[in-house]
Amino acid sequence: MPNLVHPRFTQRNAFRPALLAWYSKHGRDLPWRHTRDPYAILVSEFMLQQTQVATVLSYYSEWLRRFPNFDSLAAASESDVLRAWEGLGYYARARNLHTTAKAVVSRGGTFPNSIEQMRQLPGLGRYTANAIATFAFDQPVAVVEANIARVLARLTNLQWPIDSAAGAAKVWQIASQLVPKRDAHAYNSALMDLGALVCVARQPRCPICPVRGFCHAVDPADLPRKRRLPALRLLKEHHSLTIHRGHILLEQSQDRWRGMWILPRLAAAPPRERPLYTSEFPFTHHRITLAVFRKRSVPAMPPAAQSWFPIHSVAILPLPSPHRRAVSYLLAPKAQKLCSTSAAP
Ligand code: SF4
Repeated sequence: MPNLVHPRFTQRNAFRPALLAWYSKHGRDLPWRHTRDPYAILVSEFMLQQTQVATVLSYYSEWLRRFPNFDSLAAASESDVLRAWEGLGYYARARNLHTTAKAVVSRGGTFPNSIEQMRQLPGLGRYTANAIATFAFDQPVAVVEANIARVLARLTNLQWPIDSAAGAAKVWQIASQLVPKRDAHAYNSALMDLGALVCVARQPRCPICPVRGFCHAVDPADLPRKRRLPALRLLKEHHSLTIHRGHILLEQSQDRWRGMWILPRLAAAPPRERPLYTSEFPFTHHRITLAVFRKRSVPAMPPAAQSWFPIHSVAILPLPSPHRRAVSYLLAPKAQKLCSTSAAP
């Protein structure tokens, strides 16, 4: 494997001590850094994929209180798991975590400490398996998430787009060449925190950077290079609100929010009707406008995926955040007067 790391990084072994000295004073105090329990670390890693640390902090402790170990999570219903995850988004992560817990329990309840065996568990890719290996078992393996990729691309002035397969492979290679044989968990945490606090995406704080003497970035603000993103697509989605005798009609999503409850979909906006509620939300490369229309008639026999629920039970059902916000707004007393229908089913 060619050495992508400039000799200065390893010269007199000074790069890592500089980084670790900074980390010991300025590193973030995060709850998942106070444990070596693979379950607690796995939860944090699943939550942190595509979600900011500040948001995860408000969910993490409650999740561990509710599902303290693999056994309790494996025994929970999918509905309870999705409800507890509600607000974190990207619900496939919750389903994968649930499936992983069931797989661990069915294999005797002990989480494996070999990366090879971890990767046989559902939902555990290279990053997550390596993260557990280093943070739970202190194995000397590299981890590369967004912060670390940015730091390493700048330190080495990498000109490959880090979101291309070749660029990502280079970053992993650099990370693997730098990881120390001892205290890899502290080193990996330090690199992450450097990216989160100093080598930030916009306007990196180079003058206060503890490793600026090792940095080869010519134009740090221009790094890391990324491929051009596809243009944001605008989508309109129409849904209905039907309330009857203290019940609300909901539909169980079969696709984007599989297993969660949403307001029933409409193929198109009803002609000449104004929506009761609209909002916008992002979803991958889409910007979606959600419009909710009042349904004037009550279906005698709702389609198979739809069910009536007492309004008071909506709080315990799993609803994706855009639909939770819509339902909360529409069920507020003033809005409810506008929407309620007296038609018989
Ligand atoms: S010197 Fe600047 S670009 Fe280089 S690692 Fe530090 S903060 Fe990042």
